[in-house]
This record gives sequence, structure tokens and C-alpha cells, in this order.
Amino acid sequence: MVTEQTQPEVNIGLVGHVDHGKTTLVQALSGDWTDQHSEEMKRGISIRLGYADATLRRCPDCAEPECYTVEETCPEHDVDTETLRTVSFVDAPGHETLMATMLSGASIMDGAVLVVSATEDVPQAQTEEHLMALDIIGIENIVIAQNKVDLVDDERARENYEQIREFVEGTVAEDAPIVPVSAQQEVNIDLMIQALETEIPTPERDESLPARMYTARSFDINRPGTTAADLLGGVIGGSLAQGTLEVDDEIELRPGREVEEGGSSEYHSIETSVRSLQAGGQSQSEVGPGGLLGVGTGLDPSLTKGDALAGQVAGEPGTLPPTRNGFEMEVELLDRVVGEGAVEEISTGEPLMLTVGTATTVGAVTSARTGECEVNLKRPICAEEGAKIAINRRMGARWRLIGVGTLTE
Ligand code: GDP
Ligand code: MG
Repeated sequence: MVTEQTQPEVNIGLVGHVDHGKTTLVQALSGDWTDQHSEEMKRGISIRLGYADATLRRCPDCAEPECYTVEETCPEHDVDTETLRTVSFVDAPGHETLMATMLSGASIMDGAVLVVSATEDVPQAQTEEHLMALDIIGIENIVIAQNKVDLVDDERARENYEQIREFVEGTVAEDAPIVPVSAQQEVNIDLMIQALETEIPTPERDESLPARMYTARSFDINRPGTTAADLLGGVIGGSLAQGTLEVDDEIELRPGREVEEGGSSEYHSIETSVRSLQAGGQSQSEVGPGGLLGVGTGLDPSLTKGDALAGQVAGEPGTLPPTRNGFEMEVELLDRVVGEGAVEEISTGEPLMLTVGTATTVGAVTSARTGECEVNLKRPICAEEGAKIAINRRMGARWRLIGVGTLTE
């Protein structure tokens, strides 16, 4: 069965400014889920993916919204709670230099929780920049967590609430509910779960299409000093956008790896097989689209070490989009860059950091006209026509989001 109860079916991103409480909220929502499965491989995968799974539940005997919980037994009524669904939380890093990581995570988010601290003025820089990124990538199902309400008085909480309302006016989050919570004190977690259930539905996906997985992480799960005979193959982590994967399936990864030949180098796709599947903290024999999963492969773990294969697309051999060393895109620039002012037109020769799916690459602009440009990539990407591209420009010491592209050729 593909939809085993434990397989997460939706990815929910946590975004927002550093220290506003994203990781704490994930902990409050996922409880000690990852600790229940102490086996090294299972733990290793969830921790390194930077995600946590949670099964959202409801007590059949409690009223709304108190019925929403992550507990298996209702402490009030001492009855078993009912499973609503299992979700994967993608905890995006809030630090400003990690925008690329946030953007590549965003490409596998089905919805997001924007965490805003009630203790600071709204918006802080990454509150705004992450919201723009959600807008650009087209993530419309958003819940706002007004966090740390335990640290402010009533009046300040209301003021802050109004500031948030004002800030999201005219953005993709305009109609998003604002849920006051204390992630640390676990206050209003029931309301949060209710909002996730109503605002972030599980999208429909097609299991009958060939498998296509966007790789967000990759790693070597072997302990140092493991002997060759005991060595486990490299692991890739990410989400299936369509199709299913089964143990023993053959898969192809694109763009694959760099092969040097007579002074020049090019990328060759990699073929391997699925040796094991992990989802929802458990081994599975088959997985479908939805939450985050770990795929144990037959690859030499040195190939997957340290996220070396992050950004690759994996799927049924012969069905993947083309590998591109460059492409043309239609460009829509933002009006302004957070904290920097108006966005100037893209010019020929300038370097851009481009996020396509879970891949981030740097490209040089070889030709630029208003509304479109052509780039040459340092590292190729696997992407099809119509793919959305987050465009970042170097400003001072960091890359800033300046617009969105649509791959045309
Ligand atoms: P992140 O950078 O957004 O992931 O923020 P963290 O989850 O790491 O939280 C930053 C700090 O704020 C930590 O010290 C948390 O314990 C604290 N914190 C998070 N949520 C709350 C809350 O609701 N109330 C209080 N008082 N502190 C919180
Ligand atoms: Mg964090």
C-alpha cells in the first residue's frame, strides 16, 4: 500500500526571521517523534534532512479546537486520538546568508508557516524576504504564527497583531490566519494544528506518472571506520513530486556527476537502484508523493557525502527533464529588494544566483533584454520548460532575491 499511515503526505515549511521560534515550533508540533525511532539510520536521515515529521490528531471526545493534538492519547478523556494526517516540517534556516537554502527548501513546500515574534517590530528583514520568496515561488497556503506571546502583555500582543495584519496586506499572505502561540510554552498548539488542517490541504498528485524526486539533501550514513563489507550505500533525501518509488527500482539522477575527459569536463547522469526507503521515521517498501523521504541507493557513499547530490532530480531512467548548461528565461523583477531599494534591470555579464527546484547554481548573463535574459551556468541543472527560477543578485557581501524567472528554452 502506498499511502501507509506513517508516510507524510505534505511538506510544510517554517519560514521567518532568525530566532523568532521556527525550530521551537517544529518541536512543539512534532513532539518526540524522531526520538521514538532510535535506530541509527532512521534517526540519521531525519536529523540530517533538517526536518521533523508529525502526525496531527484529534480527540473524538473534545470540542473544537481543543480536540487538535499530537498526543496519541487524550490526556483529558484518556481515549486514543484519531489520526488526521502525517506532515513533514521543513525548517528553513532564518539566517540571512542562508537564503539559498531557504529557496531550495521552498521548492518542495506545499504550504508554509510564517513565524513572527511578538517581541519585535514587524517586519524584520527575513520576515519580509521570506514572505517575498513564498510569493515568488507561488506558495499560497500560508499560516502566520504570532509567536512568543508569553513574553508580551495583552496590549503589546494586539499592537503586534495589527502590525502583522498591515504588513501582509496586499501580499500572498493577506488572508492567512494569524495564530497567537507560544511555541516554547506550548500554548495554542491546538489552534495551530487546526489552521494547518484548514489552510494547507494535501495537494493532489499523480502516482501514475513516472517517479520524479527533488533531492534536497544527500549524505553518507556510515560511521567512520565502517568496514567495506558493512558499508551502506549513499542516501538521498527529498520529496517525490509525482509517481512512486519501490525498493529495487532503477533510478537515474540528473545532472549527475562531473566527468573529466581530455581537459574538459561534462556532467553524466548517474544510474543506481533503490536499496531502502525511509518515510515517517520508518522503513517502507513503497512510497508515494508527499512528505520528505530518504532513499538508500547503491551509490558509493563518497558520492553522496555532505549534500554533494543536493539539487539533483531523481526518477525513472529516461523520463527526466534535460540537463542544461544554460537557458533562457522570462524575467519578472521585484519592485525593490528588502533593505536595498529599487531593483535595477539585469545586465549582460553580471553573475546571478539561480534556484531551480532544489538546485542552486550560479550563472553569467550572456544576453539581457527587458523581461528576458539568457544565462550560462557554472554547474548544469536538470529542469524542464516552464520551471520557476528564483533570481538573486550579489549586493555587497550577499545574494539578494531580485525576481522570478520562467524557463523558456
Ligand atoms: P529560529 O531561529 O526561528 O529557529 O528560533 P528558535 O526556535 O531557535 O528560537 C529562538 C529562541 O527563542 C530560543 O531560545 C527559544 O527557546 C526561544 N523561543 C522560541 N519560541 C518561544 C516562545 O514561544 N516563548 C519564549 N519565551 N521563547 C521562545
Ligand atoms: Mg531554527
